This record gives sequence, structure tokens and C-alpha cells, in this order.
Amino acid sequence: MSDRPYLDPDADPDAAPTAVRSCGACTICCKLVAVPETGKPNGAWCPACIPGTGCGIHAIRPQSCRNFECFWLMETAFPDDLRPDRCGVVVAFNDDPDSVVLHVDPDRPEAWRTEPGSHLVPALLRVYERLFIVCGDDRTMVTRAS
Ligand code: SF4
Ligand code: SF4
Repeated sequence: MSDRPYLDPDADPDAAPTAVRSCGACTICCKLVAVPETGKPNGAWCPACIPGTGCGIHAIRPQSCRNFECFWLMETAFPDDLRPDRCGVVVAFNDDPDSVVLHVDPDRPEAWRTEPGSHLVPALLRVYERLFIVCGDDRTMVTRAS
């Protein structure tokens, strides 16, 4: 089986996600990704986050935070400059297995269209039918045909 399950169209779609890296100083999902349990919206820092360090309530963080792993964390084929805090884009699973979500930093709204984040769109469209670009309150869908 391929060791690149998130960028390989022939990989087993049922393969369990597994973190192969550590987040290091990245904490950007605590800004870009909503937390349903607390009502934290997309694109706003969680008040419990210590940016660049980690979660200030790690032992009691919500279940959705415990479950969350971005693609960069799980996929060594993403180079270091695509670490989400560096490129401004967090790639994550969607409920729909044919699509993924690109959470874009509202302070860098062009991050998914400019280097290095612009490499994500063609790479992901080789595997997924649709990409949802979420930037604050803005939503954009990109498909293979578009
Ligand atoms: S965006 Fe990914 S690498 Fe960054 S803190 Fe979240 S899970 Fe870790
Ligand atoms: S509770 Fe912790 S892990 Fe969850 S978004 Fe806030 S700082 Fe991040």
C-alpha cells in the first residue's frame, strides 16, 4: 500500500489517519478551525490557545480538538514549508469523503492562491473531487472541472 494516502488516488480510502509528525510551534488550527463545543468560529483564535506554544487547557480540551489532525501532520509528502502556520492553510477532512476543506487564514486570504499554498490545490484535486476553501465567513468551492 502507498505510504502517501492523502495525495495518492490509488491509496486505500479507509486507511486510518495517523500523525507522522509533531506540530512543533504550529498552533494555527486553534485559529482557523471552528470548535463546535465552545462555539469558537473559523478564523478567530481560541482564547485558550497560547500561539506558538500550544493549548492552555490541554488536559480538558474538547473532543473535536483531541480528534483533529491536519493533512500536513499525517502526510510526509507535504514539505516543511506547507506546515499550516507557515503557508497559512490548514487542510482537513470533510464529512464528505470526496472532498476536503482548506481553512485559510483571514489575515492571509490569498494564501491558497500564492506560493507555497498554491501547490495544495492541484495536488489535492488529483485525489478529491471537490475542495472547499473556508476563509472566515467566505466559502469557495473548487472542482476538477473548474
Ligand atoms: S494545523 Fe496541523 S500542524 Fe498545525 S497545530 Fe494544527 S494539527 Fe498541528
Ligand atoms: S481548546 Fe485548546 S486545542 Fe482546542 S482550539 Fe482551543 S487552544 Fe486549540
